[in-house]
Amino acid sequence: MGAGLAGLATAVAAAERGHPVTVLEKGDRVGGAAAFSGGQVWVAANHVEAREGIADDLADAERYVRAVGASHPELVDDVALRRWLTEAPRAAEWFEQVGAVRWEIIPDYPDYYQDAPGARTTGRYLTAVFDASKLGRWRERLRVSPHFPVGTTYGDMLDAGLRASAFGAAREAGGIAREDLYSFGTGVVAGFLAAAVAREVPILTGHAAVELVVEGDRVVGVVAQTPGGRRRFDGAVVLATSGYDWDDDLAREYLGLEPEDRGSVAPRTLTGDGIRLAGQAGGAVTVIPGNRVPVQVGYPVDTEPGFQVAREHSLPHTFVVDTTGRRFCDDAVYWEITNAVLTPGSPHLPCFMIWDERHHARYGLGPTPPGGSYPDGLVASAPTLTELGARLGIDGAELARTAERFSADVAHGSDPLFGRGTNATWQRFQGDPAQSPHPNLGPVDTPPFFGMRLRMVSTGIGLTGIAVDADGRVRDKDGRTIDGLYAAGAAAAFSSSGAAYNSGFSLSRAVTLALLVAESL
Ligand SMILES: Cc1cc2nc3c(=O)[nH]c(=O)nc-3n(C[C@H](O)[C@H](O)[C@H](O)COP(=O)(O)OP(=O)(O)OC[C@H]3O[C@@H](n4cnc5c(N)ncnc54)[C@H](O)[C@@H]3O)c2cc1C
Repeated sequence: MGAGLAGLATAVAAAERGHPVTVLEKGDRVGGAAAFSGGQVWVAANHVEAREGIADDLADAERYVRAVGASHPELVDDVALRRWLTEAPRAAEWFEQVGAVRWEIIPDYPDYYQDAPGARTTGRYLTAVFDASKLGRWRERLRVSPHFPVGTTYGDMLDAGLRASAFGAAREAGGIAREDLYSFGTGVVAGFLAAAVAREVPILTGHAAVELVVEGDRVVGVVAQTPGGRRRFDGAVVLATSGYDWDDDLAREYLGLEPEDRGSVAPRTLTGDGIRLAGQAGGAVTVIPGNRVPVQVGYPVDTEPGFQVAREHSLPHTFVVDTTGRRFCDDAVYWEITNAVLTPGSPHLPCFMIWDERHHARYGLGPTPPGGSYPDGLVASAPTLTELGARLGIDGAELARTAERFSADVAHGSDPLFGRGTNATWQRFQGDPAQSPHPNLGPVDTPPFFGMRLRMVSTGIGLTGIAVDADGRVRDKDGRTIDGLYAAGAAAAFSSSGAAYNSGFSLSRAVTLALLVAESL
């Protein structure tokens, strides 16, 4: 169920192993959040590293994951963690061997937490590009990311700087014409889609799985709502329906956020259906605390899917405050903001990004180019911070004091209060390399001033999800597996990494569970 990366990869592996397989997709297009994504697939000790002579090892990878999730060690399923880490390199290589993908390493892209034991500075992020001209009629039916432009690659993006790439730095890659160069998540999924199509797997769009068929304690099929009415499909069921981004009740329950404070940059078809479907057969839910979920900060836009990630809070000449007018964390790094905001009882909602004219002139905001006019109603501006505070519902006098102190501190290249700019990865990849003395730091002192309420935006990674064993078999509340029912990808709880998250874990686990599930069928 679901034609994102996990569903398509499961289909390819199942077909390759001789199983008859059908993919049901609720949306009118395939690809899921995976096609919208950055396409970073985190695989430690992978075969491309070996090919390129990059040293890595699984013991270090395990140390790294455990260190990143050290706040809640009890949430890690040790068997699942080791299975994921050891099987991910095998799955990556296996899917390459069957022609679903040709991996490359994202050049010089480091693990997020460079201070954690076992971190690496390069090698663990795989990604892929794909020549869309090979998709035939499926080209029109694959989602294309609104977040990463077609025709650009990680190489371009990292060379040009993240902001510059939004305005069209691009070149041909591997002989693929720019308009056909599917990259980032769209490129990764495109290869798996082509591989499923080549194996003549029926992929039925507009088919939403709505009910499991259960006989005794075994799942024997599924009923889908289709354009022609309800239709039953028999066989084992793999739930690859992704996160609960667009379901207000589940988001309230698992993230503690009300609709006005949140949104998602993933497709609107991600409504936690897998959790509900599994529940029909007694499948349990494994809950991971909301403040560990890699929710990003963003804002509403009037293009699909309705929200955009605000990368600009990492750049100089900006900071983030709550209604008291005070900062509350290292506001260059999204998970420091969302961790603080999503902690139960947090006083930091709503929160606001505040910036000055220098930020406006140099960086713009999403589709608004540097110096451009912001969309109506999104951004407030005022000649003084006190007035800006009044417009946004923030204590303006305190906001002015915050800016004064911040500006004095960062002029010397550091933020003694919250350590903004101390994350080495964010320093290098999310800041402005041209900014001196520090890529993430600049005073907020040049009028006019600007401010925008931030929304917590999900990305198809809820961490909380269907309880599974190390091979993707769905478990009931007593830990027993349910015959005939599997979960793969973000629909399955992230018990293999618990409270740890680093970019690329989700897609890595999607392809790994896909292969393991197919081998269990
Ligand atoms: C902007 C952005 C950037 C990201 N970057 C990265 C990254 O670089 N690395 C990384 O690891 N992760 C990243 N993610 C997260 C990642 O994309 C998701 O966690 C991942 O796609 C989950 O894969 P999946 O196959 O489980 O689900 P998806 O790719 O979301 O696919 C699920 C599919 O199931 C379908 N579906 C839902 N309900 C039903 C139903 N009832 N019946 C039938 N079909 C159904 C959906 O329509 C969808 O097509 C990013 C996400 C976004 C939005």
